[in-house]
Amino acid sequence: MTERKRYARQILLPEVGESGQDVLAGASVTIVGVGGLGSPAAMYLAAAGVGNIRLIDPDPVELSNLNRQLLHHQEDYETSRAKVESAKMKLRSLNPEITVEGVRERLDLKNAARLVQKPNVVLDCLDNYDARHDLNRYCVTNGLKLVHAAVEGWRGQMTTIFPGKTCCISCLVPRSPKREGPIPIIGAVAGTFGCMEANEAIKTILGLPGVLQGRLLIGDLLEQSWETIDVERNPHCPVCKGI
Ligand SMILES: [Zn+2]
Repeated sequence: MTERKRYARQILLPEVGESGQDVLAGASVTIVGVGGLGSPAAMYLAAAGVGNIRLIDPDPVELSNLNRQLLHHQEDYETSRAKVESAKMKLRSLNPEITVEGVRERLDLKNAARLVQKPNVVLDCLDNYDARHDLNRYCVTNGLKLVHAAVEGWRGQMTTIFPGKTCCISCLVPRSPKREGPIPIIGAVAGTFGCMEANEAIKTILGLPGVLQGRLLIGDLLEQSWETIDVERNPHCPVCKGI
């Protein structure tokens, strides 16, 4: 039996209501990457009562994660706890009404079907484009809606991919950018985009308007400038062409 009081403040919204809350409770989300984006995304989806949350991440908690990955605490670093285990503990403590699964594996094209499965929405909370391209290909070829965000420094971008309707990650960024060394990042910037991914997933699950379909949101939090640009499908995209 769902504790309605927990969700009372969002049930008040006409876009949610009692029926929308039931939809959230029956929904499933897979979050790939439980770091700077995935931590806040998972927290807000769990708090909102999204009934089934699946987390995928291969790594243990490291000290340099703690400036932004707020699901993970000092103790998790000291015990080298897996990020998916650390996240499961916190999310269950936050909301025992929902189901949280964790898979400690690195996603690639071969294991994507087993790891991601077929949720209502997938969240790209990754930190590299090689894995993003594998996730994108799996989601696009299986018709799975994918919320994409990427952050670096003070900047971030976000869009939501509806396979067959909108551009995909390969249309946007055909080749993985070359990069050496760790990505510089302000924790609050990752947090901002992670929260927005959760919000975008909730809207997508509820079928609400205003989702970033075919639009790319770009934010620079140093300059505090935001813009949304229309993004087109690439008719020659090797991933989504013909879909
Ligand atoms: Zn494409």
